[in-house]
Amino acid sequence: MASKHALEFYIGGAWVAPVEARTIDVIDPATETPLGKVALGSSADVDKAVAAARTAFDTFSRTSVEERMDLLGRIADVYKKRFTEMGQTISAEMGAPISFATRFQAGAGMGHFRVARDLLKDFHFVERDGATEIVREPIGVIGMITPWNWPANQICCKVAAAIAAGCTMVLKPSEVAPYSALLIAEILEEAGVPKGVFNLVNGDAAVGQAIAAHPGIDCVSFTGSTRAGIDVAIRAAPTVKRVGQELGGKSANIILDDENFEKAVVEGVKLCFRNSGQSCNAPTRMLVPRSRMAEAAALAKGVAEVMKVGSPADPATEMGPVVSEVQWSKIQALIESGAKDGAETVAGGPGRPAGLEKGYYVKPTVFAGVTPAMTVAREEIFGPVLAIMAYDSTDQAVEIANDHPFGLAAYVSGADAAKATAIARRLRAGMVTVNLAPADPKAPFGGYRQSGNGREWGRFGIEEYLETKAVLGAAA
Ligand code: NAD
Repeated sequence: MASKHALEFYIGGAWVAPVEARTIDVIDPATETPLGKVALGSSADVDKAVAAARTAFDTFSRTSVEERMDLLGRIADVYKKRFTEMGQTISAEMGAPISFATRFQAGAGMGHFRVARDLLKDFHFVERDGATEIVREPIGVIGMITPWNWPANQICCKVAAAIAAGCTMVLKPSEVAPYSALLIAEILEEAGVPKGVFNLVNGDAAVGQAIAAHPGIDCVSFTGSTRAGIDVAIRAAPTVKRVGQELGGKSANIILDDENFEKAVVEGVKLCFRNSGQSCNAPTRMLVPRSRMAEAAALAKGVAEVMKVGSPADPATEMGPVVSEVQWSKIQALIESGAKDGAETVAGGPGRPAGLEKGYYVKPTVFAGVTPAMTVAREEIFGPVLAIMAYDSTDQAVEIANDHPFGLAAYVSGADAAKATAIARRLRAGMVTVNLAPADPKAPFGGYRQSGNGREWGRFGIEEYLETKAVLGAAA
């Protein structure tokens, strides 16, 4: 599942060779062998892409809302045609089970184009306040830097919003999962996105750094680790560009005493293990009343022990490998810290699951009796590892949930929805889910504190890419 364009970039509406011929291998996480190669760009490629985006901005920023709605609709239609291929590509490059990669990962990417098109119908780009006209204008060229864990979703939420806003863009996808990004470029090309509106340069951190610092880029939208997000903001500062950061998470899942425990624990564990635990909003800290710790641990153990871990290509697989050797080793060290710090290992533990000696497979792991100071309660593990923690009162549960540098997501479940909602309102996180409500693609996505700045998805994602202009004394 490589790409015919793996050694090219998409710049100014054409597939072009990189300025310097350098490549890296893209590794199949299920077999640890190369799937293929991808070109590694440089700042010279970024310069070309930015020049194309700047030229295109002059006309694209002046297109009508109807033209952009039409374009977003065409993109969604072409995406739909290539939906199966998208699922297969994502599954091969980052290891998500094929069923999940197709339905959820590929599906989320397509959904953003439809949502953006629908939102444009009622989006107010111009308002009037007395003699003043307030205009929301496209900010300019957007630099986009994205990770590997939900590759199509993370790219498409930015691209759909930028097109809706009338911006042009330069994307640098993750070098770990670049093939889905190349497929997105093919979809945009086939849908007739005007040349220069969308440009793609593959590469590693150096390309991301060149985008962050580039004076021709007006806004950089970064999704990835907090470490890299900070570096992007520092490099962006001298040019005073807007910086959007979608970073890490360590989200609490408070289960209230009156809740149907079996349902909430079982679903909470499954959500934590989804995508091999590689979701920034995964509910990785499960908070239960102290008297119910043993019950929660037994239920979680039951889920972990029957989870079907195996080849992502098998439709019956529930959990594939994690993405890379680097992630696998980091997760192993964190799992080892759990037992060392005195947490009880109720399922999983270090090493590979039985029978899976090749591939970056991790045992679904559950720790019970975790206390807030333990490493498994503090660090974002980004693997299938759940920490169950006890609370003595709902006030204490709220305090533990909020006591973390991250504030991306949180979850509360209880039989009394009003009580659970009241607790949700006290949680300092960007996205709080009550009683496992389904995801809402129109709701703002983003975090508090070190989980980032700014919001994506829906109308909030479009607003990220707009400047505000006051025209005083404007004629009606
Ligand atoms: P990463 O930060 O290593 O890489 C993300 C992207 O940034 C990649 O394209 C990478 O090449 C690039 N990059 C790396 N260092 C850079 C630098 N110094 N300057 C510019 N670009 C740089 O993250 P990852 O390992 O790909 O993804 C996992 C992380 O992403 C996790 O911490 C996860 O929580 C976070 N994440 C957050 C969200 C969110 O919306 N909040 C969503 C998905 C993932």
